Amino acid sequence: MKLLNKAVFAVFAGLALSAAQVQAAPAAGKAKNVILMISDGAGINTWRAASYYRHGALGKEVYDKFPVQLFVSTHPLNTSKQPTFSNRNAVRFDSEKLWDNKRSDAQYKGEKASYPSRFAGYHYAQNDFTDSAAAATALATGMKTYNNAIGWSNDDKPLKNIGEYVANSGKALGVLTSVQWSHATPAGFLSHNRSRNNYAEIAKEAVESGRADVIMGAGHPKFDKNGLPAAAGDDKAYQYVGGKETWDKLAAGKTPYKLIESKQDFINLANGKLDLGGKTKILGTAQNHTTLQFDRNGNAAGGQLANQPDLATMTKGALNVVSRNPKGFFLMVEGGAVDWAAHANNLPRLVEEQTDFNRAVEAAVNWVEKNSSWNETLIMVTTDHGNGFLQGPDSDRNFYNPIVNQGAGKLPLARWHTDNHTRELVPVYAHGAGAEYLLTAAKSEPKLGTYFNVPKPAQKFVDNTHIFRTAMHALGLRRH
Ligand SMILES: [Zn+2]
Repeated sequence: MKLLNKAVFAVFAGLALSAAQVQAAPAAGKAKNVILMISDGAGINTWRAASYYRHGALGKEVYDKFPVQLFVSTHPLNTSKQPTFSNRNAVRFDSEKLWDNKRSDAQYKGEKASYPSRFAGYHYAQNDFTDSAAAATALATGMKTYNNAIGWSNDDKPLKNIGEYVANSGKALGVLTSVQWSHATPAGFLSHNRSRNNYAEIAKEAVESGRADVIMGAGHPKFDKNGLPAAAGDDKAYQYVGGKETWDKLAAGKTPYKLIESKQDFINLANGKLDLGGKTKILGTAQNHTTLQFDRNGNAAGGQLANQPDLATMTKGALNVVSRNPKGFFLMVEGGAVDWAAHANNLPRLVEEQTDFNRAVEAAVNWVEKNSSWNETLIMVTTDHGNGFLQGPDSDRNFYNPIVNQGAGKLPLARWHTDNHTRELVPVYAHGAGAEYLLTAAKSEPKLGTYFNVPKPAQKFVDNTHIFRTAMHALGLRRH
């Protein structure tokens, strides 16, 4: 099987390997390229719901065949919205507490409703969670920090992110998302700011540093959330693209970037047919103020906006740009609106967004198999935290009752337990050069088998900071 290289296939297949074999770290610097793909806010049942809907079964997505599969802890350093300069009130994480099936009278007060916790383990999962900013910072810098921080420490200092290490090493950098490109997750790989809410500052830093070779996402100042032209807006309309002055410079070609925005330009870039007009870098801002698709009117799936590129097209286009660098690249791809759908407890659009993300993973895998190889490219597919705590229909009475498959084309039966992020363990799938390094820090967690029915080799987890270390190790880069 082309996808699986032999050494790691044994881990996937659950064969008995000695601890020494599992723990043996691959040599550093094996990977020329790393692609990190993040479905924002996707607990295990988000992945499963999408798989049931699309395939009527589990195990059919391209990453289900990846040889390294385990889980990730995602908690922040603390839940303050600003630096605390101290370890007081640090969030702790004890995976045992997720499986405490004692009845609980606690409630989680969400934006939409109050959600009964039902069980102590649910209560633990519902609280002290990371936001996307602290999670992006952990994934991009290897450092835990406070919620709100974009590449920023709890001591109020900027943190060097993997994008900087990559660019300084002469490799290319690409960052793309289905939400605004200055939103928390892409921002963590591009910029440094005390607060994720300073969108204009974050976007301006990304453009002015010129560090990334490709930046793509939504956030267009002149279109609304339905992809329709918007009336000339005030400064706020330009916040996601760095303010009006930055946008005008981009549009006039006075930055290192070629600005593209039409769906056709994204398609042309994906097909290698876009005229870059003398530029080598791309800033793609799709014609939507918020997300490619999720934020359009209505709640149902289908009826998608016709003038938006999908994430797979953007991924192909970005790969065309960053793979021109003979030294290799680091590319981050985010399915950003999976999180928005979970906040809205909108299962149809959750599945739609996760499926769009899954197609982007397929595009990346196809690129590796056609244009590169698993010996020189690493793909890691993961999420930054859970959201919605989706469990089975009887999960209010039965602890971690599984969601119920209704067959392809039908939504599974499920129940939401929050409209916010969670502290649950979330999946990571990896394949290619240096993937096994993820296992070097893994802690055993057999209850993942008990409650989520994951096979023995996947009953373990690492901290989200170890994903940064794995990417750096694969690329032969050292933090300094
Ligand atoms: Zn997030």
